[in-house]
Amino acid sequence: DPRIHGIQSKIRVVPNFPKPGIMFQDITTLLLDPKAFKDTVDLFVERYKGKNISVVAGIEARGFIFGTPIALEIGAKFVPLRKPNKLPGKVISEEYELEYGRDCLEMHLGAVEPGERALVVDDLIATGGTLCAAMKLLERAGAEVVECACVIELPDLKVCI
Ligand code: IMP
Repeated sequence: DPRIHGIQSKIRVVPNFPKPGIMFQDITTLLLDPKAFKDTVDLFVERYKGKNISVVAGIEARGFIFGTPIALEIGAKFVPLRKPNKLPGKVISEEYELEYGRDCLEMHLGAVEPGERALVVDDLIATGGTLCAAMKLLERAGAEVVECACVIELPDLKVCI
């Protein structure tokens, strides 16, 4: 698809951020270009519209940016998956491994009903650990995860999903 090259060209790569040796993929430069941003959302909407998806779960924080417009366009609800202690209601939590240490995602209890069809959205997949935790949360709530959608895949990392 010719739109992909345009999208790719707007993602800035910042060396040594946030730590030495890391090549940070920065989507904020993509958001500055309304056409490239819209193309990104459109590509996902074209893939998921009509697939009977009732919930889009976005991973904090950049998954919110892409997940929200996708949810609106495909007629699904949006559920934020947040870092610990951010959601005010009762939550279910899922811990996951990072390169150094652990992290956790939380989802409001009752946001997703058993049997719902879910799409998980984030900006980037590296090891897949974050997406695995998101899938577990949705599956514990009884949802079926149809697919995970990311703007960027780091090609040289082995994915655990
Ligand atoms: P994973 O769990 O190893 O797949 O890492 C993916 C998570 O780390 C996502 O939530 C990303 O937002 C974040 N992440 C890792 N590397 C980058 C990067 O270079 N740019 C933006 N986000 C990143």
